[in-house]
Amino acid sequence: MKEKKLQNCGKCGLCLNACPVYKILKEEQVSPRAKLHLIKAHDQNTIASSAFLKEIISKCLMCGSCSAVCPSGIDHYSKFMEMRRKMGEAHGEAPAIKSLIYLLAREYRTGFGAGLARTGQKLVPAGLAKKFKLGNIPIKNFPELNPVPFRKAHDEVIFPKGKPAGRVIYFTGCATNYLYEDTGDAVIGILTHMGYEVVIPKTQTCCSIPLLFHGAKDRAMENITANIKALRDIEAEAVLVDCSTCGEALKNEYPRLFEPHDEHLVAAQDIALRVTDIISFINLHFDLLQFDPDITGKIPVTYHAPCHTRNTFSSHLTVEKILQAMPSVDYRQTPDSDQCCGGGGTFFYEYPEVSKKMVDKKIESAKAVEVSHWLTDCPVCRMNLAGNTEKKDGLTVLHPVTLIHAALKQI
Ligand code: SF4
Ligand code: SF4
Repeated sequence: MKEKKLQNCGKCGLCLNACPVYKILKEEQVSPRAKLHLIKAHDQNTIASSAFLKEIISKCLMCGSCSAVCPSGIDHYSKFMEMRRKMGEAHGEAPAIKSLIYLLAREYRTGFGAGLARTGQKLVPAGLAKKFKLGNIPIKNFPELNPVPFRKAHDEVIFPKGKPAGRVIYFTGCATNYLYEDTGDAVIGILTHMGYEVVIPKTQTCCSIPLLFHGAKDRAMENITANIKALRDIEAEAVLVDCSTCGEALKNEYPRLFEPHDEHLVAAQDIALRVTDIISFINLHFDLLQFDPDITGKIPVTYHAPCHTRNTFSSHLTVEKILQAMPSVDYRQTPDSDQCCGGGGTFFYEYPEVSKKMVDKKIESAKAVEVSHWLTDCPVCRMNLAGNTEKKDGLTVLHPVTLIHAALKQI
């Protein structure tokens, strides 16, 4: 079926205009349609596997924007994922990517790696942190890791304030657990304010989408089954994510990974049905929010829409709607709010020059609308935007929930 659809590519070129990598490089070979045809040629043995082919295939942010616009309904995403697996097996990965896969494949290793990185952050002399970059991001601009992993710092069940409204599961992902505890604190604050009991399963782990994107499905499966076991038996109206890429994993990727007879398939499908991004959930229950009437003045704010927020949940417009409805916010849209920032999982590391061109354009647009806060609901976008801005740019980059939470009345 998928092969037939691939043959249906009418070479219309719509995916070229949607592809952030093509828009920067203007090379047909990196375009989504060229990638598809190279994959087909490789599968039919008309072109040989090579490091060069691997490079072309990996010049991709796995953003899903090509599939979203393709009139032939071609599933670029799963084709790219499978090809990345083949290329990784045939030609290996760079040492840093291999290490990342190794660390994320087991929770205890991720925790150990995060602890080591936190110690490293304290020990690296300021001069060196200024000089060296990880991909396109100067080391000095990386966020400080959480002192204690978020899930360790919180009880597994957090009870609501005020009148109970229901129960939800919070899938925190690695970023909130190790990097951005402010996002997690705001999510809990908003949900309990609304009257929701919040369950944060202790045995959840990395969603493993970075592993899947690098073709390491075999190494991802232990995490994926651990997550399914952690989430499946908890009665709750929704499984909430604060990262749209974790959402993409739980909603679209997990159910595709199991054969029809596999005992985990039904649970994966049930979880997928309940997965909701936090912004859509807040919007659905907006009437439960009580804003603080004593807050005066409006914070000038703009928003960067992450690719998976647009392509998996279509909730980027919801974020803007909420920001416009908030009494404490002066929302100013940039003309390229829906354009990719070039973060793309590990893309900022693998292709720093391409990524830098994308993010610099975004920074100029954000500065042009003269805001103090730049909001985005993806931790990699946040790291990329914040990592490439300097103090003089006057932009604080946060998840939208942080501002929503700060505007609520204490109850
Ligand atoms: S949008 Fe779809 S049909 Fe058009 S060129 Fe791209 S892959 Fe082919
Ligand atoms: S997933 Fe995104 S970056 Fe990759 S080919 Fe498609 S549009 Fe381009």
